[in-house]
Amino acid sequence: MKLKIAGSGGMSPIPNPFCQCPICEEARIKRGRYERLGPSLYIEDIKMLIDTPEDIAVACDRQGISQIEYLSVSHKDPDHTRGIRIVEPLGYDCISDKGTPVPFIALPEVIDDINAWNGDGLHYYEDILHCISIRGTDYVKIGTIEIHLINNKTHRGNMTFYVISDGDKKVIYACCDVKPFVPNPLYFDADILIIGLVSDNSILKDGSNLADAPFKDDMFTLDEIMELKHTYRIKRIIVTHIDEYWGKSYAYYRELEKKLDNISFAYDGMEIIL
Ligand SMILES: [Zn+2]
Ligand SMILES: [Zn+2]
Repeated sequence: MKLKIAGSGGMSPIPNPFCQCPICEEARIKRGRYERLGPSLYIEDIKMLIDTPEDIAVACDRQGISQIEYLSVSHKDPDHTRGIRIVEPLGYDCISDKGTPVPFIALPEVIDDINAWNGDGLHYYEDILHCISIRGTDYVKIGTIEIHLINNKTHRGNMTFYVISDGDKKVIYACCDVKPFVPNPLYFDADILIIGLVSDNSILKDGSNLADAPFKDDMFTLDEIMELKHTYRIKRIIVTHIDEYWGKSYAYYRELEKKLDNISFAYDGMEIIL
């Protein structure tokens, strides 16, 4: 199985054009892995893209992702859906007025959420432009790849965690709205858990503490992540959805992960092969 982190950032890109913090300034100079675009994952084996942040077209171009045969969206939030227009050039040729719909695979609850938020946006692409074909499901098998779509339903709403397996290899992609982490037996003995919204030391970019932030209850600490790793006997953790407001650079995380037990931090273009 071969996966690629197309974007490892969070709500805002790094650099954020309106920010002069050291991390954004450093990214402007160094570029490459110091930059982060919105959160998304590409499953190379089946050419499936999970999530469409607003900069997804740029992310695909940077990472050499030139084919998308399946598309999925984890939940309705703008940082995961506002790039949905990527389906237009994928599934519809505006010159010939013809196209081949791209299968859009998501939990039925998530499809309803997206339509409610975007004014029937998905129906526009399915019924008028005919560039997607919507399939609401919690399980799909494509070739040898099996995907369980699990609703991590909490007070924040519907959020899809993906359990992606190929034979005895298993990866969980839980990129956003991770806490509370609703138990599920399918998570046991995964090779890798790719998880978002993790704080390493609770210090935000302006020096303030996570404990005083409005989103304090949404974040996992590294200790809590170690607990999850232990409980579910997961071999390796990769942290993604690394938000600009943490104020931590690519180089910082590379140093930090040396001290941790099989926890690493994603970067745009990171390849995961197992
Ligand atoms: Zn900044
Ligand atoms: Zn998010």
